[in-house]
Amino acid sequence: MRLLIMGPPGAGKGTHAGALAALVGGPHISTGDLFRDHIDRRTELGRLAEKYLATGEYVPDAVTDDMVRDRLARPDAAHSFVLDGYPRTDAQVATLDELLDARGTAVDGVVELTVPDDELVARILRRSAVSGRSDDTEEVVRHRLAVYTDQTAPLVRAYGERGLLHRVDGTGSMEEVRRRVEAAVAARVRPGA
Ligand code: AMP
Repeated sequence: MRLLIMGPPGAGKGTHAGALAALVGGPHISTGDLFRDHIDRRTELGRLAEKYLATGEYVPDAVTDDMVRDRLARPDAAHSFVLDGYPRTDAQVATLDELLDARGTAVDGVVELTVPDDELVARILRRSAVSGRSDDTEEVVRHRLAVYTDQTAPLVRAYGERGLLHRVDGTGSMEEVRRRVEAAVAARVRPGA
């Protein structure tokens, strides 16, 4: 079972991707986490990605695609995984489709978490107190939201046209949202469904 979790910054993708990954029995793969890990380890990729993350811009597709291709080639992602934060552009959707097609598989479902913009900004600013993320400032957050609306929201609609989309209300307690997310994908996760 190969799932995507999508939604604007601050919607709770990282939080709920973990539970989804447990449900499908595969890894939770977050491109943001992969980039931050490279930055912490001061790899060449990390040095390249750093400026994009700091300003809330997307890392170029070729770089991001290579990183995802490598990660999905690892044995733990052979059958099931939850991708969090990828794809984010048209080109990334095409890369992912090709990559999975070459393995004789495809995306099985997409969970979109929806949260109003003002709440997203408030959440991220609260998170900034503990996250230490350079991109959790109000100015960068507003830019990240604009980039999401411009480049990534249309992809969610495209997955909807493929009949893969589950829209989940991301407001309320973590527990409430977790239950909604699990209910949304339960039919797909059930063997044979
Ligand atoms: P996230 O942790 O998912 O909010 O991602 C943090 C930052 O990592 C984003 O603002 C981008 O700079 C970068 N990033 C994460 N995923 C991607 C992606 N699929 N394509 C390009 N940049 C990405």
